[in-house]
Amino acid sequence: MSGGQPVRITVDRDRCCGSGNCVVTVPEVFDQDDAEGLVVLHQPEPPPEYADRLREAVDLCPAGAIRLDE
Ligand code: SF4
Repeated sequence: MSGGQPVRITVDRDRCCGSGNCVVTVPEVFDQDDAEGLVVLHQPEPPPEYADRLREAVDLCPAGAIRLDE
């Protein structure tokens, strides 16, 4: 479901291993820093219509570094 409920994303850079899966899945929300390749969060409260792809990003993160609250 991707209704109109607000969603909130948090990332744990201490866990991130720089795989980049999240950046490929939701480039509007995630990026990687140039120095270490660790995740950078562009939008902590992304539009609800991104929810399906955000769930996918959570599932694809090999480090369990992404948390989605909705
Ligand atoms: S998918 Fe996970 S481990 Fe990979 S860059 Fe994103 S937060 Fe880091």
